[in-house]
Amino acid sequence: MREVVILGSTGSIGRQALEIIAAHPEKLRVIAITSAGTHPELVIAQAQAFNVGIIGVVENADVIRAGLPGVKVIDGRFASTEIASIECDVVLNAITGSIGLGPTLAALDSGNILALANKESLVAGGELVMAKSRPHQIIPVDSEHSAIWQCAMAGKREEISKLILTASGGPFVDRTDLSSVSVADALKHPTWSMGNVVTINSATLVNKGLEIIEAHYLFSMPYTSIDAVIHRQSIVHSMVEFCDGSTIAQASPPNMKGAIAYALNFPHRFMAATAPIDWSSVHNWSFEPIDSSRFPAVALARHCGELGGAMPAIFNAANESAVAAFFAGKIAFNDIVSIVEHVTKHLEESALSPLRDLADVSAIEDNAKALTHEYLTRLAH
Ligand code: MG
Repeated sequence: MREVVILGSTGSIGRQALEIIAAHPEKLRVIAITSAGTHPELVIAQAQAFNVGIIGVVENADVIRAGLPGVKVIDGRFASTEIASIECDVVLNAITGSIGLGPTLAALDSGNILALANKESLVAGGELVMAKSRPHQIIPVDSEHSAIWQCAMAGKREEISKLILTASGGPFVDRTDLSSVSVADALKHPTWSMGNVVTINSATLVNKGLEIIEAHYLFSMPYTSIDAVIHRQSIVHSMVEFCDGSTIAQASPPNMKGAIAYALNFPHRFMAATAPIDWSSVHNWSFEPIDSSRFPAVALARHCGELGGAMPAIFNAANESAVAAFFAGKIAFNDIVSIVEHVTKHLEESALSPLRDLADVSAIEDNAKALTHEYLTRLAH
């Protein structure tokens, strides 16, 4: 029996993880769940369905306590961080955004195995996270990184010459005019069903930029050895090229269940975690380079990653603020990446020293978010 802690249980990844756990009660048991608490009725339902003993929420703690007598409810901003260090077999960090960094560091500090879906942890605090983690303590859940993790097993570490991340291209891969895109348009992803923030990040391709940085830290590969290609069908989840010219790909229909199940049960595979590819029908898989003039986010992320220091954290913080402003109807879709570009350029000189701790990351993020807001206010006038 493997005891699991889920951080971010009400989000897309958290809910799918619970479905996997429900299907394998003989192998997996949830002992604690955390979430923002925005949907208290869902938290209560999850806790009851899985007989969870410990719950962490930021808000609505009283409603949840009243609905779950006898269950321990930890509330406040640091609830996920506290719960990440509970002794268990695996902590799944499925929080969205760089607020997931504190819980990631806490899970690693306590020696827990970390199934990491929160890519922003590695973007905002990659050096800190990797310095704390022992080999194989972090198991990637992001589908691309799970694919690379699986493909990498086909050879030795020093035989890997390149990582190739695939990108669906998002809903606007063929759209030439991106100025009139609405929130509803941007939320219509062609192949993947995901949370709202990652769906917008997929439409701008910021997501692929974040994932390049994530891959750099997870697999300690230089940026020059990490490529990204458009693969519209989202069936090949990523690839690893070896020194002999051989490329190994991982393929399965677009569904996070396989990657989540593999991370929760590593190194074992569950029976039928996801439906396999149906080879009785015709498949055409395409691969094409990313058009960087329409999607400048990937090159910008790579640039920030190569500069290092606080630049990836600034890239992510500016994007988080810009995406919130897009959801609020304050800026156009096209403005998201221009704002990120403006903020990262502005802070480039001052942000190259290494981040020493979580407080450093928070300070640099606050600064980037303040500058983003200042810029947004100027845009609005
Ligand atoms: Mg991904």
